[in-house]
Amino acid sequence: MPPRVLIVDDEESVTITMAAILEMDGYSVATALRGDDALSQIAKEEFDLVLTDLRLDDFDGMDVLAAARRRSPNTVGIVLTGYASLESAVTALREGAYDYMLKPADVEELRATVARGLERRKLGQQLRERVADLEAANRTINQLNEGLQDRVAQATADLQAHVHELDEAREALQTSYEQLQELDKLKSQFLSIASHELKTPITAMSGFVQIAVRRIKRRLGAGRPTEADWKKEEETLLEQLEVVQRQTAKLARLVDELLDVSRIESGRLELQVADVDLPELIAEVMRRHELIATRHQLRLHYDPDQTLGVRGDRDHLEQALNNLVGNAMKYSPEGGAIDVTVARAGEQEVEFSVGDHGIGIRPAELARVFGLFYRSPDRLARDVGGMGLGLFITKEIVDRHNGRIWAESEVGQGTTFHVALPATVAAAVEA
Ligand code: ADP
Repeated sequence: MPPRVLIVDDEESVTITMAAILEMDGYSVATALRGDDALSQIAKEEFDLVLTDLRLDDFDGMDVLAAARRRSPNTVGIVLTGYASLESAVTALREGAYDYMLKPADVEELRATVARGLERRKLGQQLRERVADLEAANRTINQLNEGLQDRVAQATADLQAHVHELDEAREALQTSYEQLQELDKLKSQFLSIASHELKTPITAMSGFVQIAVRRIKRRLGAGRPTEADWKKEEETLLEQLEVVQRQTAKLARLVDELLDVSRIESGRLELQVADVDLPELIAEVMRRHELIATRHQLRLHYDPDQTLGVRGDRDHLEQALNNLVGNAMKYSPEGGAIDVTVARAGEQEVEFSVGDHGIGIRPAELARVFGLFYRSPDRLARDVGGMGLGLFITKEIVDRHNGRIWAESEVGQGTTFHVALPATVAAAVEA
């Protein structure tokens, strides 16, 4: 497409001449003799170059240029002026016209000025295109950069997450390692305590059995005793046999505990579930302990109007109670009251507690006493025999009943163990 040129001048001879010259140079030329005609042509199409007289009859030539540039900002404006208005030509240049020519225009000057103007327009356009290309490239680079930053940020976050996971794994490993070490230590302690615990009754029994054997042999050698001697010897023998009987029972208990732990550890602790009347079971356990209690008063508290039944394994619940009442007596060597309370707790639970006035448990140990093999390092607690299995077994039994067990204690004041079990009948139903 040839460049479009508009020539505006109120002298027709000027427009015709100029148009002819420029058309010969290959431009497509339009002409206007009046400002308003020029404006309407500009409204219809875009011109690459507008040549206008500064002083038209009806218009200021600058207004024509302004209209052309509003329509298309790249339009090159050239003003035509006589000598008289050279000053206004300078103003026109300041206001954005590209060049000016004095009338009458010289042919070569006209051709050169128009060609220069159009060349400049082309260069300007190329420059703008380059700038646009550069801007587009810049945007692409920015996008790439942002993408890269995103990926770096993502990779950094991933890495941090991994480091965090590793840290956690390391901590977990460290904890397990410490737990294993602790368990290993407790196990060695347990082995020495267990052998001691088992050895003591065996030593006592074998001592008493040896003496009894010797006595019987001596009697057999000495012949029939008198009635009085016989009675005395039988009484001594009976006393010794009773000691042996007590030690046998203790041994049996220890072995039972070991068997229970082994069953728990291998997941073979079986429950025979039935309705259990807790106050009745507790009273029975307490009666048995009362028989051997010399320093303690065992007291049971409950409201006979409450339904205090649970679903559970009677034998194992009895074992749990035995452990708690037994411990309460063991760890209150000075004696005192042992209070066993059973009552409803909330709508769904029955709670019993066993409280003593004994040596107590330090706060740091309150949760640990339920651990396997755990025995307090406290000297007062160490003085009392035990293998550190009772509370572990008790907690396991309570857990298997979907219950909870916890202890409250004050050193030197006493300890209360609490056990909450799901009630057979919800409190709301009972009412
Ligand atoms: P054992 O009595 O055979 O050592 P347990 O598992 O029954 O084992 O108890 C673990 C530890 O908890 C005991 O060694 C003792 O330190 C502490 N403990 C248990 N019951 C009481 C209690 N009523 N008062 C004070 N300490 C207790």
